[in-house]
Amino acid sequence: MFSVSVIGLGYVGLTFAACLANRGFRVYGVESDEEKRKLILEGRPPFYEPGLDSLLSKAISCGSLIVMNDFQSAIQNSYITFVCVGTPSRDDGSVDLSQVESAVREVGRALKKKNGYHLVVLRSTIPPGTTEGLVKKLLEEESSKIAEVEFGLCFNPEFLSEGKAIEGIMKPDKVVIGAVDERSGKLLLEFYREFYSGKLPPILLTNPVNAELIKYANNAFLAMKISFANMFSRLCSKLKGADVAVVMKGIGMDSRICNAFLGAGLGWGGSCFPKDTRGILFYAKKLGVDLKLIRASIEINEEQIEYALELAENLIGGLRDKLIAVLGLAFKPGTDDVRESRAIKLIEKLLEKGARIRAHDPKAMENARRILGDRIEYAGSIEECLSDADLCILATEWPEYRQINSDLLKKYMKSPALLDCRRLYDPNQFRGIRFAAIGLGP
Ligand code: NAD
Repeated sequence: MFSVSVIGLGYVGLTFAACLANRGFRVYGVESDEEKRKLILEGRPPFYEPGLDSLLSKAISCGSLIVMNDFQSAIQNSYITFVCVGTPSRDDGSVDLSQVESAVREVGRALKKKNGYHLVVLRSTIPPGTTEGLVKKLLEEESSKIAEVEFGLCFNPEFLSEGKAIEGIMKPDKVVIGAVDERSGKLLLEFYREFYSGKLPPILLTNPVNAELIKYANNAFLAMKISFANMFSRLCSKLKGADVAVVMKGIGMDSRICNAFLGAGLGWGGSCFPKDTRGILFYAKKLGVDLKLIRASIEINEEQIEYALELAENLIGGLRDKLIAVLGLAFKPGTDDVRESRAIKLIEKLLEKGARIRAHDPKAMENARRILGDRIEYAGSIEECLSDADLCILATEWPEYRQINSDLLKKYMKSPALLDCRRLYDPNQFRGIRFAAIGLGP
């Protein structure tokens, strides 16, 4: 079996490394953040991802995942290196490649001292041209070796979704391999054949620039589907009897459309869609190309917060000094990730309008506190969150919030009113109280 190294043990790298280790691979994980490393070495993931804690503790205790901050040793002991470091947005929308640059330089330095062939695989989302441009150049410079001859290079995008990351790795819809040469592509294919025990998912083998474009186009398309639903949510809210949830269910029944990512709500957030849509828009603009659909999708996404505020104001008649219970802080259920969370964006706007906020989340409270600090109150339970509130806003559709009903709202709130920003509830169940929802007509 191949011995592999994984650089960057965040949401993607750690989940990938733990899955590999549990499949029998010997994995050398390199993480530069000391605090994260300490937790991982104790078998504890530094973030919440369902099922990861048991996979990780098994991998650490049986020694199949070795965690370090030593590129030399990781590269010496492995045959394939997967780079999974972060690629955040800069303020202007461009992609910040500093983590990729420093990790790739380190890999190159380690390659210099290694005898024999090695395959380097980029899994981080990077702008088109980066693999064959910056990455190849840095590796050759630092290693004094020649790509395609002394080492191989691929771009192999990750498509997992947080909250379902293990499934995303173990049973992906596809594996896309962008190889600089035939040997690199064949080797990575061979690795995946081992990883999936011969039962390969559909594979697309292409060049790096196509693979890089596929990753951006994939995310942009999914973001666009959500924005499409949100565009119709505004129209539905003006039409008596209209309901965007029903309309999207109807179009989703068409197999050419499919119902995934058609949920109207507060819009998309998280660690990928916002930065990747901005990233490809910025990149294309530099080449003189205006990606209009993506630009419109971002615009619709931003406007959705204003639309939710309007609904909240209409429901309780002004927001100043009102106590608002916000349910959900994570950017989506199943994760503690609050990067670009719409719930937090909404809270910031509610605070600007003079509202007081008490929030609850089953997993993301600690991460949200790092952003919102003591500007809001944090509730330990749903009941505590609702207590004496003027309005309850459902901002992230965690399954535990399904238990909310009229009786619970009447029992704990000052005056029961519910705004469903994720279309979790059946409006008919809230007939006796003030109720509004994204995309629900009068
Ligand atoms: P993350 O920020 O959670 O993890 C990156 C990790 O790399 C961090 O732990 C960081 O400390 C570490 N790191 C940075 N520089 C390093 C270095 N030089 N040496 C060792 N470690 C280093 O990011 P993530 O969410 O895991 O995303 C990683 C990449 O995968 C990004 O490009 C992202 O766009 C892409 N991606 C993410 C997801 C997702 O759902 N999170 C899904 C698909 C693709």
